[in-house]
Amino acid sequence: MTPSDAARTTTPRSPGFRAVTARRIRGILVAGVRGVVARTAGAFGYRLTKRQRRGGFGFADGAVPDGLTVFDSEISALTNLDPALLGALRQAAKAAAEDGVELFVNSGWRSPAYQEHLRRNAVARYGSEEEAARWVAAVETSAHVAGNAVDIGPPEAAAWLSEHGAEYGLCRIYRSEPWHYELRPEAVEHGCPPMYADPSEDPRMRR
Ligand SMILES: [Zn+2]
Repeated sequence: MTPSDAARTTTPRSPGFRAVTARRIRGILVAGVRGVVARTAGAFGYRLTKRQRRGGFGFADGAVPDGLTVFDSEISALTNLDPALLGALRQAAKAAAEDGVELFVNSGWRSPAYQEHLRRNAVARYGSEEEAARWVAAVETSAHVAGNAVDIGPPEAAAWLSEHGAEYGLCRIYRSEPWHYELRPEAVEHGCPPMYADPSEDPRMRR
């Protein structure tokens, strides 16, 4: 039985609902199959880290495997990004490769549940909501949850992007986060806007 057969046989019969639900179930089944394969054989060569497994958040929530490049077309952390951001990243990564620098993605899109998990961890680590907010955004304001941000590594790749990213509309937003990039299309002509010291200065983070 293929996942789509399974979706058909397990779906309620109301037509509109059925189409949507079949898609969703197919997605869940595919994710489930991938999860099983990932745990046993390392699908696409990727594995979850121990920390990700402990948190209970898999690739469907935006967890990122080691060694993820911007050219992957399977992992939700990338496929749920704004296509314009992903396109710019791929262009930049090709140029970086010509300079002998490889860009890796340490984080991209995240599900609201995964973001909230990260935020709670930050509150526990930093001791207060206010201090945690300097490091991890709320679900409602996170550019990662919106699919509008990526965290790039290693440091030399982030440094390459800091120097050349504006040509592709890719900008650092926070001085405190040299790895965090968002798309600012106007940067191609005008350069990147001034950075905030950290997310607590960013008006978007105030609710
Ligand atoms: Zn980030």
